[in-house]
Amino acid sequence: MSKRVTHILHCAVCDAVVSEPVSLEVEDDLPFRRPLKPAFPKGEGWVTMEPIPQSKWNECRDLLYTNYVFMSTESLAEDVADTPFKDRVRGCCGPSGIDGPNKVCKCGNHIGTESRDCWTAWEFKVDPTATYWEVLQ
Ligand SMILES: [Zn+2]
Repeated sequence: MSKRVTHILHCAVCDAVVSEPVSLEVEDDLPFRRPLKPAFPKGEGWVTMEPIPQSKWNECRDLLYTNYVFMSTESLAEDVADTPFKDRVRGCCGPSGIDGPNKVCKCGNHIGTESRDCWTAWEFKVDPTATYWEVLQ
């Protein structure tokens, strides 16, 4: 069983809206499954309830996420920008996302991490310590 509820993401520092409306689905059926490529559909997100690896490669199994929202980068607000820290957007064909949060609110607060490399899932991981969700319906 699972259900979807529409939320909107805010920056925890300046309260700005940093996403479009996102329908969040909480998966009760474990293990959590996430699509690799193509990325999550725009406007939809999933919440991890158990630790999952950051990538499909063995060497990254120690990078685990729990209670993170995964969603499409396309669901972010238009004024969300890339981090000024260039070492956080390294990757082969795009940002791998293993170097730390790489998307910033207009106030400069890092709100989460985009992965969009050839060897990673294509997704945005919301940082729950830098943001909060407002329930729309
Ligand atoms: Zn902000």
